[in-house]
Amino acid sequence: MDTASTGAHDAVRTARRALATEAVHAGRDDLARQGLHAPPIDLSTTYPSYDSRGEAARIDAFAATGADPDGPPVYGRLGNPTVARFETALARLEGTEAAVAFASGMAALSAVLLVRASMGLRHVVAVRPLYGCSDHLLTAGLLGSEVTWTDPAGIAEALRPETGLVIVESPANPTLAEVDLRAVAHACGSVPLLVDNTFATPVLQRPAEQGARLVLHSATKYLGGHGDVLAGVVACDEEFAGRLRQVRFATGGVLHPLAGYLLLRGLSTLPVRVRAASASAAELAHRLAADPRVARVHYPRIGGAMVSFEIHGDPHEVIAGVRLITPAVSLGSVDTLIQHPASISHRIVDADDRRGAGVSDRLLRMSVGLEDVDDLWSDLDQALSCRGAGNRANDHNAPAPAGTLPLRR
Ligand SMILES: *Cc1c(COP(=O)(O)O)cnc(C)c1O
Repeated sequence: MDTASTGAHDAVRTARRALATEAVHAGRDDLARQGLHAPPIDLSTTYPSYDSRGEAARIDAFAATGADPDGPPVYGRLGNPTVARFETALARLEGTEAAVAFASGMAALSAVLLVRASMGLRHVVAVRPLYGCSDHLLTAGLLGSEVTWTDPAGIAEALRPETGLVIVESPANPTLAEVDLRAVAHACGSVPLLVDNTFATPVLQRPAEQGARLVLHSATKYLGGHGDVLAGVVACDEEFAGRLRQVRFATGGVLHPLAGYLLLRGLSTLPVRVRAASASAAELAHRLAADPRVARVHYPRIGGAMVSFEIHGDPHEVIAGVRLITPAVSLGSVDTLIQHPASISHRIVDADDRRGAGVSDRLLRMSVGLEDVDDLWSDLDQALSCRGAGNRANDHNAPAPAGTLPLRR
């Protein structure tokens, strides 16, 4: 290849590209010149080297900074080329220097807590609601952290000298409550802000641009997008990424290369999936808000494919009544899922804490997929009419339906 065309390739690579373009090209920039189209899957656990002095130097470099070793990989727990493609792509989408992938969202959050605890910064300030298991990990102090729960306005006051992290989710699981990320980042001062961006995805919100130092995803959800891969990832600056890689190396919560491949493939359709599902979700939120069987609809101002709603009747009857919609925990797949947070996703949170965070016992959380919106509505409509589900629909004393948020059409 002549140098002129190499230069042209480099110019294209370094130009700032739109999200939709990054989604299909980031992490794949080298493929065409290798004569490849689909990314190769590298399942190696170890990498032969006749140069043990050179390998020793790479291990020393990793121990010093956690930077991805230059030259051939060493061992699967230090890093994997297929997983690295996904990390590169996600960092581009979130607008950060780096990203570090883990075996699950919870493994990713655990690694962040361990990085801070290893620096003697065990205190965490967090805003409810969070995903149920994140709440549990902090409340139970399983990794030796101590949590102070507060609302966004109380963050600055809750900070202590040993505070290592502030955690928020926006839109939050499962109420879809939103926080002003810029204001929260300001309140954090020099303490790193972690934003769980699982629900919004970088398609709708890029928290690093608003001052978050750490952007966490349960990649199990929208990034994978097809309900067939469990993964987590933290997008951040290179310095924090190095510490995360060192913790990942020492504790072993690595992502499998096949999962890395599936996630990279998932990213390529992320913008299309999120926009299509969000349009249906906004329409369903609108129809639910106008329905007398529904007491309250939660739908974020930034949009998205999640809709939560409280019903007058028994939420268990809706779960039992859906036929097209899948009654299952998790979210972000191509098919629509519905679940009852008080029973399932947030079961592990103490009932008073859960209710205090606005998670009503009558709340249902729906992850809208890519089905036809009228088919989804028909299924919801019949499930809401099941005996018990809509039992106050004919009750003239029932409160008027309230769509509590401005709904975007
Ligand atoms: C699912 C979820 C998690 C946990 O991710 P796993 O991949 O299941 O470990 C964390 N945060 C949010 C917002 C989630 O929805």
